[in-house]
Amino acid sequence: MSSLHYWNYPTEIFCGPGALDVLAERCKLLGMRNPLLVTDPGMLALEPMALIKAHLQHADIAFAVFSDIDSNPSLNDVARGVAAFKAGRHDSLIALGGGSAMDAAKGISLASVDAQGLEQYQWSNVIASYPTLADFPHLDLPRLIALPTTAGTGSELGREAVLTLSEENIKRVVSHPELLPACVILDPVLTRGLPAALTAATGMDALTHHIEAFCSPLYHPMSSGVAVEGIRLIQQHLCNAHRDGQNMVAREGMLIASAMAAVAFQKGLGGVHALAHPLGARYHKHHGLLNAILLPYVLVANRQAISRDIARLARYLELPQPDFDGFLDWVLQLREQLGIAHSLGEMGLDTDAADWVGEQALADVSSSDTNACVLSAADYTQIFRNAVQGVLPR
Ligand SMILES: [Zn+2]
Repeated sequence: MSSLHYWNYPTEIFCGPGALDVLAERCKLLGMRNPLLVTDPGMLALEPMALIKAHLQHADIAFAVFSDIDSNPSLNDVARGVAAFKAGRHDSLIALGGGSAMDAAKGISLASVDAQGLEQYQWSNVIASYPTLADFPHLDLPRLIALPTTAGTGSELGREAVLTLSEENIKRVVSHPELLPACVILDPVLTRGLPAALTAATGMDALTHHIEAFCSPLYHPMSSGVAVEGIRLIQQHLCNAHRDGQNMVAREGMLIASAMAAVAFQKGLGGVHALAHPLGARYHKHHGLLNAILLPYVLVANRQAISRDIARLARYLELPQPDFDGFLDWVLQLREQLGIAHSLGEMGLDTDAADWVGEQALADVSSSDTNACVLSAADYTQIFRNAVQGVLPR
Protein backbone atom coordinates (compact mmCIF):
# COMPACT_ATOMS: atom_id res chain seq x y z
CA MET A 1 0.00 0.00 0.00
CA SER A 2 2.94 2.35 -0.45
CA SER A 3 1.78 3.80 -3.78
CA LEU A 4 -0.99 6.18 -4.77
CA HIS A 5 -4.41 4.84 -5.72
CA TYR A 6 -7.34 6.34 -7.59
CA TRP A 7 -10.78 4.79 -7.01
CA ASN A 8 -14.28 5.89 -7.90
CA TYR A 9 -16.49 4.10 -5.44
CA PRO A 10 -18.87 5.71 -4.56
CA THR A 11 -17.12 9.00 -5.44
CA GLU A 12 -13.66 10.03 -6.59
CA ILE A 13 -11.02 8.87 -4.07
CA PHE A 14 -7.30 9.55 -4.08
CA CYS A 15 -5.51 7.39 -1.55
CA GLY A 16 -1.96 7.01 -0.28
CA PRO A 17 0.91 8.96 1.27
CA GLY A 18 1.18 12.16 -0.76
CA ALA A 19 -2.39 12.01 -2.13
CA LEU A 20 -2.75 15.56 -0.82
CA ASP A 21 -0.69 16.70 -3.82
CA VAL A 22 -3.79 16.44 -6.03
CA LEU A 23 -5.78 18.99 -3.95
CA ALA A 24 -5.05 22.15 -5.95
CA GLU A 25 -5.46 20.38 -9.29
CA ARG A 26 -8.83 18.90 -8.23
CA CYS A 27 -9.99 22.32 -7.01
CA LYS A 28 -9.27 23.74 -10.43
CA LEU A 29 -10.84 20.83 -12.32
CA LEU A 30 -13.98 21.11 -10.18
CA GLY A 31 -14.20 24.87 -10.75
CA MET A 32 -13.56 25.69 -7.07
CA ARG A 33 -12.16 29.23 -7.24
CA ASN A 34 -12.82 30.43 -3.70
CA PRO A 35 -13.47 27.56 -1.28
CA LEU A 36 -14.36 27.99 2.39
CA LEU A 37 -12.08 25.67 4.36
CA VAL A 38 -14.12 24.20 7.23
CA THR A 39 -12.22 22.68 10.11
CA ASP A 40 -12.42 22.35 13.86
CA PRO A 41 -10.59 24.83 16.10
CA GLY A 42 -8.15 22.18 17.35
CA MET A 43 -6.82 21.77 13.81
CA LEU A 44 -5.75 25.39 13.28
CA ALA A 45 -2.22 25.02 14.63
CA LEU A 46 -1.58 21.49 13.37
CA GLU A 47 0.43 20.10 10.47
CA PRO A 48 -2.52 19.20 8.17
CA MET A 49 -3.75 22.80 8.20
CA ALA A 50 -0.29 24.11 7.33
CA LEU A 51 0.01 21.58 4.48
CA ILE A 52 -3.41 22.44 3.00
CA LYS A 53 -2.78 26.18 3.23
CA ALA A 54 0.59 25.78 1.52
CA HIS A 55 -0.95 23.76 -1.34
CA LEU A 56 -3.76 26.28 -1.92
CA GLN A 57 -1.49 29.32 -1.67
CA HIS A 58 1.07 27.77 -3.99
CA ALA A 59 -1.68 27.28 -6.59
CA ASP A 60 -3.06 30.81 -6.11
CA ILE A 61 -6.43 29.53 -4.96
CA ALA A 62 -8.24 32.08 -2.75
CA PHE A 63 -9.78 30.62 0.41
CA ALA A 64 -10.83 31.47 3.96
CA VAL A 65 -10.93 29.30 7.07
CA PHE A 66 -14.05 28.72 9.17
CA SER A 67 -13.40 26.87 12.43
CA ASP A 68 -16.13 28.08 14.79
CA ILE A 69 -17.66 24.63 15.30
CA ASP A 70 -18.28 22.31 18.23
CA SER A 71 -17.08 18.69 18.34
CA ASN A 72 -20.78 17.81 17.95
CA PRO A 73 -21.64 20.49 15.36
CA SER A 74 -24.96 22.23 15.93
CA LEU A 75 -27.43 24.06 13.74
CA ASN A 76 -26.05 27.31 15.21
CA ASP A 77 -22.56 26.37 14.03
CA VAL A 78 -23.98 25.75 10.56
CA ALA A 79 -25.80 29.09 10.59
CA ARG A 80 -22.54 30.91 11.41
CA GLY A 81 -20.80 28.94 8.68
CA VAL A 82 -23.45 29.92 6.13
CA ALA A 83 -22.97 33.56 7.11
CA ALA A 84 -19.20 33.21 6.57
CA PHE A 85 -19.77 31.39 3.27
CA LYS A 86 -22.01 34.16 1.96
CA ALA A 87 -19.95 37.05 3.37
CA GLY A 88 -16.82 35.69 1.68
CA ARG A 89 -18.69 34.99 -1.61
CA HIS A 90 -17.37 31.44 -1.52
CA ASP A 91 -18.30 29.02 -4.29
CA SER A 92 -17.28 25.70 -2.73
CA LEU A 93 -16.09 23.95 0.44
CA ILE A 94 -13.11 21.99 1.67
CA ALA A 95 -13.63 19.95 4.84
CA LEU A 96 -10.49 19.17 6.84
CA GLY A 97 -10.79 17.20 10.05
CA GLY A 98 -12.87 14.49 11.64
CA GLY A 99 -16.60 13.96 11.47
CA SER A 100 -17.42 17.34 13.00
CA ALA A 101 -15.70 19.26 10.18
CA MET A 102 -17.26 17.00 7.53
CA ASP A 103 -20.73 17.27 8.99
CA ALA A 104 -20.49 21.04 9.50
CA ALA A 105 -19.27 21.54 5.92
CA LYS A 106 -22.14 19.45 4.57
CA GLY A 107 -24.63 21.39 6.70
CA ILE A 108 -23.19 24.70 5.44
CA SER A 109 -23.37 23.44 1.85
CA LEU A 110 -27.05 22.52 2.14
CA ALA A 111 -28.20 25.52 4.18
CA SER A 112 -26.32 27.99 1.97
CA VAL A 113 -28.51 26.97 -0.98
CA ASP A 114 -31.76 25.99 0.74
CA ALA A 115 -32.58 27.73 4.03
CA GLN A 116 -35.18 25.03 4.81
CA GLY A 117 -32.92 22.19 3.69
CA LEU A 118 -31.81 21.04 7.15
CA GLU A 119 -35.49 20.57 8.02
CA GLN A 120 -36.69 19.17 4.71
CA TYR A 121 -33.93 16.61 4.28
CA GLN A 122 -33.81 15.22 7.80
CA TRP A 123 -33.88 11.47 7.77
CA SER A 124 -37.52 10.86 8.69
CA ASN A 125 -38.69 13.17 5.87
CA VAL A 126 -36.22 11.68 3.42
CA ILE A 127 -37.45 8.14 4.00
CA ALA A 128 -41.04 9.21 3.39
CA SER A 129 -40.54 11.61 0.49
CA TYR A 130 -37.50 10.47 -1.52
CA PRO A 131 -37.39 6.67 -1.83
CA THR A 132 -34.51 6.72 -4.35
CA LEU A 133 -31.64 9.12 -5.02
CA ALA A 134 -33.30 10.22 -8.29
CA ASP A 135 -36.36 11.42 -6.36
CA PHE A 136 -34.43 14.20 -4.61
CA PRO A 137 -34.71 17.71 -6.06
CA HIS A 138 -31.50 18.84 -7.77
CA LEU A 139 -30.04 21.63 -5.61
CA ASP A 140 -26.72 22.32 -7.32
CA LEU A 141 -24.95 22.40 -3.95
CA PRO A 142 -21.44 23.86 -3.71
CA ARG A 143 -18.69 21.34 -4.52
CA LEU A 144 -17.02 19.77 -1.50
CA ILE A 145 -13.59 18.14 -1.20
CA ALA A 146 -13.13 16.09 1.97
CA LEU A 147 -9.79 15.45 3.66
CA PRO A 148 -10.22 13.34 6.78
CA THR A 149 -7.65 13.72 9.57
CA THR A 150 -9.15 10.93 11.63
CA ALA A 151 -10.01 7.38 10.61
CA GLY A 152 -13.43 6.92 12.13
CA THR A 153 -16.61 8.54 10.93
CA GLY A 154 -16.34 7.76 7.24
CA SER A 155 -18.41 10.89 6.72
CA GLU A 156 -16.20 11.71 3.71
CA LEU A 157 -17.91 8.92 1.77
CA GLY A 158 -21.44 9.57 3.06
CA ARG A 159 -24.45 11.51 1.84
CA GLU A 160 -25.44 12.35 5.40
CA ALA A 161 -24.55 14.93 8.04
CA VAL A 162 -25.20 14.50 11.77
CA LEU A 163 -26.07 17.81 13.44
CA THR A 164 -27.13 18.57 17.01
CA LEU A 165 -30.25 20.56 17.85
CA SER A 166 -28.50 22.44 20.66
CA GLU A 167 -31.53 23.38 22.71
CA GLU A 168 -33.02 19.87 22.68
CA ASN A 169 -29.83 17.79 22.96
CA ILE A 170 -30.96 15.69 20.02
CA LYS A 171 -28.89 14.68 17.00
CA ARG A 172 -30.50 15.06 13.60
CA VAL A 173 -29.38 13.16 10.51
CA VAL A 174 -29.69 15.17 7.30
CA SER A 175 -29.38 13.39 3.96
CA HIS A 176 -29.17 14.51 0.35
CA PRO A 177 -27.28 12.82 -2.51
CA GLU A 178 -25.41 16.04 -3.33
CA LEU A 179 -23.86 16.03 0.16
CA LEU A 180 -21.51 13.28 -1.05
CA PRO A 181 -18.15 15.03 -1.53
CA ALA A 182 -17.09 15.48 -5.15
CA CYS A 183 -13.61 14.31 -4.23
CA VAL A 184 -12.08 12.54 -1.22
CA ILE A 185 -8.37 12.61 -0.41
CA LEU A 186 -7.23 9.86 1.95
CA ASP A 187 -3.67 10.84 2.81
CA PRO A 188 -2.26 9.05 5.88
CA VAL A 189 0.14 11.95 6.41
CA LEU A 190 -2.89 13.98 7.55
CA THR A 191 -3.64 11.49 10.34
CA ARG A 192 -0.13 10.90 11.72
CA GLY A 193 -0.49 13.57 14.41
CA LEU A 194 -3.69 12.09 15.80
CA PRO A 195 -3.14 11.27 19.51
CA ALA A 196 -3.28 7.60 20.48
CA ALA A 197 -6.52 7.95 22.47
CA LEU A 198 -8.31 9.54 19.50
CA THR A 199 -6.84 6.96 17.14
CA ALA A 200 -8.40 4.32 19.38
CA ALA A 201 -11.80 5.99 19.76
CA THR A 202 -12.21 6.90 16.09
CA GLY A 203 -10.99 3.47 15.00
CA MET A 204 -13.56 1.82 17.25
CA ASP A 205 -16.22 4.05 15.67
CA ALA A 206 -15.24 2.68 12.25
CA LEU A 207 -15.31 -0.87 13.61
CA THR A 208 -18.77 -0.26 15.07
CA HIS A 209 -20.01 1.05 11.70
CA HIS A 210 -18.86 -2.13 9.98
CA ILE A 211 -20.22 -4.48 12.64
CA GLU A 212 -23.62 -2.76 12.87
CA ALA A 213 -23.90 -2.67 9.07
CA PHE A 214 -22.90 -6.33 8.83
CA CYS A 215 -25.53 -7.27 11.44
CA SER A 216 -28.31 -5.13 9.92
CA PRO A 217 -31.15 -7.31 8.62
CA LEU A 218 -31.52 -5.22 5.44
CA TYR A 219 -30.59 -7.22 2.32
CA HIS A 220 -27.59 -5.57 0.68
CA PRO A 221 -24.85 -8.13 0.01
CA MET A 222 -22.53 -5.55 -1.59
CA SER A 223 -22.40 -3.60 1.66
CA SER A 224 -22.08 -6.82 3.68
CA GLY A 225 -18.98 -7.72 1.66
CA VAL A 226 -17.45 -4.30 2.24
CA ALA A 227 -18.13 -4.62 5.98
CA VAL A 228 -16.38 -8.00 6.24
CA GLU A 229 -13.16 -6.77 4.63
CA GLY A 230 -13.38 -3.46 6.52
CA ILE A 231 -13.42 -5.34 9.82
CA ARG A 232 -10.40 -7.39 8.71
CA LEU A 233 -8.49 -4.21 7.86
CA ILE A 234 -9.23 -2.85 11.34
CA GLN A 235 -8.10 -6.14 12.87
CA GLN A 236 -4.85 -5.78 10.92
CA HIS A 237 -4.16 -2.08 11.44
CA LEU A 238 -5.88 -0.45 14.43
CA CYS A 239 -3.52 -1.60 17.18
CA ASN A 240 -0.47 -0.76 15.04
CA ALA A 241 -1.77 2.75 14.32
CA HIS A 242 -2.52 3.18 18.03
CA ARG A 243 0.92 1.92 19.12
CA ASP A 244 2.89 3.91 16.51
CA GLY A 245 1.16 6.93 15.04
CA GLN A 246 3.96 7.32 12.47
CA ASN A 247 3.24 3.90 10.95
CA MET A 248 1.95 5.06 7.55
CA VAL A 249 0.87 1.58 6.44
CA ALA A 250 -1.34 1.25 9.52
CA ARG A 251 -2.62 4.81 9.21
CA GLU A 252 -3.52 4.25 5.56
CA GLY A 253 -5.19 0.93 6.36
CA MET A 254 -7.35 2.64 8.97
CA LEU A 255 -8.26 5.53 6.63
CA ILE A 256 -9.39 3.03 4.00
CA ALA A 257 -11.32 0.94 6.53
CA SER A 258 -13.10 3.95 7.98
CA ALA A 259 -14.05 5.27 4.53
CA MET A 260 -15.28 1.80 3.54
CA ALA A 261 -17.55 1.82 6.57
CA ALA A 262 -19.64 4.61 5.07
CA VAL A 263 -20.27 2.34 2.08
CA ALA A 264 -21.06 -0.57 4.39
CA PHE A 265 -23.56 1.37 6.46
CA GLN A 266 -25.78 1.99 3.49
CA LYS A 267 -27.26 -1.14 5.13
CA GLY A 268 -27.93 0.99 8.20
CA LEU A 269 -26.56 1.09 11.72
CA GLY A 270 -27.99 -0.37 14.91
CA GLY A 271 -28.43 -0.19 18.64
CA VAL A 272 -24.92 1.05 19.45
CA HIS A 273 -25.47 4.20 17.42
CA ALA A 274 -29.07 4.50 18.57
CA LEU A 275 -27.69 4.82 22.12
CA ALA A 276 -24.55 6.80 21.29
CA HIS A 277 -26.44 9.58 19.50
CA PRO A 278 -28.56 10.76 22.47
CA LEU A 279 -25.68 10.11 24.91
CA GLY A 280 -23.31 12.22 22.81
CA ALA A 281 -25.83 15.04 22.56
CA ARG A 282 -26.62 15.03 26.30
CA TYR A 283 -23.25 14.32 27.90
CA HIS A 284 -20.89 15.67 25.20
CA LYS A 285 -18.72 12.56 25.22
CA HIS A 286 -16.73 11.44 22.18
CA HIS A 287 -18.92 9.53 19.73
CA GLY A 288 -16.34 6.83 19.02
CA LEU A 289 -15.58 6.30 22.69
CA LEU A 290 -19.29 5.89 23.48
CA ASN A 291 -19.59 3.35 20.65
CA ALA A 292 -16.50 1.48 21.81
CA ILE A 293 -17.89 1.08 25.30
CA LEU A 294 -21.47 0.28 24.20
CA LEU A 295 -20.55 -2.22 21.45
CA PRO A 296 -20.21 -5.44 23.54
CA TYR A 297 -23.43 -4.71 25.48
CA VAL A 298 -25.44 -4.31 22.26
CA LEU A 299 -23.79 -7.37 20.67
CA VAL A 300 -24.96 -9.44 23.63
CA ALA A 301 -28.48 -7.99 23.41
CA ASN A 302 -28.58 -8.93 19.70
CA ARG A 303 -26.91 -12.30 20.23
CA GLN A 304 -29.72 -14.58 19.08
CA ALA A 305 -30.26 -12.69 15.84
CA ILE A 306 -26.59 -12.42 14.85
CA SER A 307 -24.71 -15.41 16.23
CA ARG A 308 -24.64 -17.36 12.93
CA ASP A 309 -23.47 -14.39 10.87
CA ILE A 310 -20.93 -13.44 13.53
CA ALA A 311 -19.54 -17.01 13.49
CA ARG A 312 -19.05 -16.71 9.71
CA LEU A 313 -17.30 -13.38 10.24
CA ALA A 314 -15.12 -14.85 12.99
CA ARG A 315 -13.97 -17.58 10.59
CA TYR A 316 -12.99 -14.95 8.00
CA LEU A 317 -11.01 -13.11 10.70
CA GLU A 318 -9.32 -16.43 11.59
CA LEU A 319 -10.12 -15.96 15.27
CA PRO A 320 -8.94 -18.83 17.48
CA GLN A 321 -12.55 -19.45 18.62
CA PRO A 322 -14.67 -18.79 15.50
CA ASP A 323 -18.08 -18.27 17.09
CA PHE A 324 -20.06 -15.51 18.80
CA ASP A 325 -18.21 -15.80 22.11
CA GLY A 326 -14.83 -15.83 20.35
CA PHE A 327 -15.79 -12.69 18.46
CA LEU A 328 -17.03 -10.97 21.63
CA ASP A 329 -13.74 -11.85 23.33
CA TRP A 330 -11.83 -10.36 20.38
CA VAL A 331 -13.80 -7.09 20.68
CA LEU A 332 -13.20 -6.97 24.45
CA GLN A 333 -9.47 -7.68 24.06
CA LEU A 334 -9.11 -5.09 21.31
CA ARG A 335 -10.85 -2.50 23.48
CA GLU A 336 -8.56 -3.33 26.39
CA GLN A 337 -5.41 -3.13 24.23
CA LEU A 338 -6.55 0.33 23.14
CA GLY A 339 -6.93 1.46 26.75
CA ILE A 340 -10.70 2.00 26.49
CA ALA A 341 -12.89 1.74 29.57
CA HIS A 342 -15.28 -1.18 30.04
CA SER A 343 -18.19 0.85 31.42
CA LEU A 344 -19.85 4.21 30.91
CA GLY A 345 -19.67 4.61 34.70
CA GLU A 346 -15.89 4.92 34.35
CA MET A 347 -16.54 7.98 32.12
CA GLY A 348 -18.67 9.57 34.83
CA LEU A 349 -22.12 8.65 33.48
CA ASP A 350 -24.84 7.46 35.87
CA THR A 351 -28.25 5.90 35.31
CA ASP A 352 -30.36 8.90 36.41
CA ALA A 353 -31.59 9.56 32.88
CA ALA A 354 -31.83 5.87 31.88
CA ASP A 355 -35.51 6.07 30.88
CA TRP A 356 -34.88 9.17 28.73
CA VAL A 357 -31.92 7.41 27.10
CA GLY A 358 -34.12 4.40 26.27
CA GLU A 359 -36.83 6.54 24.69
CA GLN A 360 -34.34 8.58 22.67
CA ALA A 361 -32.53 5.45 21.48
CA LEU A 362 -35.82 3.96 20.30
CA ALA A 363 -36.63 7.15 18.41
CA ASP A 364 -33.18 7.27 16.79
CA VAL A 365 -32.92 6.53 13.09
CA SER A 366 -30.39 3.74 13.78
CA SER A 367 -32.89 1.67 15.74
CA SER A 368 -35.77 1.85 13.25
CA ASP A 369 -35.40 -1.14 10.91
CA THR A 370 -31.72 -1.80 10.97
CA ASN A 371 -30.77 -3.10 14.40
CA ALA A 372 -30.38 -6.86 14.16
CA CYS A 373 -33.49 -7.48 16.28
CA VAL A 374 -36.41 -5.40 17.53
CA LEU A 375 -35.50 -3.59 20.75
CA SER A 376 -37.97 -1.63 22.92
CA ALA A 377 -37.28 1.53 24.88
CA ALA A 378 -37.11 -0.67 28.00
CA ASP A 379 -34.52 -2.89 26.28
CA TYR A 380 -32.39 0.14 25.45
CA THR A 381 -32.74 1.42 29.00
CA GLN A 382 -31.50 -1.95 30.29
CA ILE A 383 -28.57 -2.04 27.85
CA PHE A 384 -27.64 1.48 28.98
CA ARG A 385 -27.83 0.46 32.66
CA ASN A 386 -25.61 -2.56 31.93
CA ALA A 387 -23.11 -0.35 30.11
CA VAL A 388 -23.01 2.18 32.96
CA GLN A 389 -22.48 -0.55 35.53
CA GLY A 390 -20.18 -2.73 33.42
CA VAL A 391 -22.50 -5.75 33.61
CA LEU A 392 -22.07 -7.89 30.49
CA PRO A 393 -24.49 -10.86 30.59
CA ARG A 394 -22.77 -13.81 28.84
ZN1 LIG B 1 -20.41 6.40 14.30
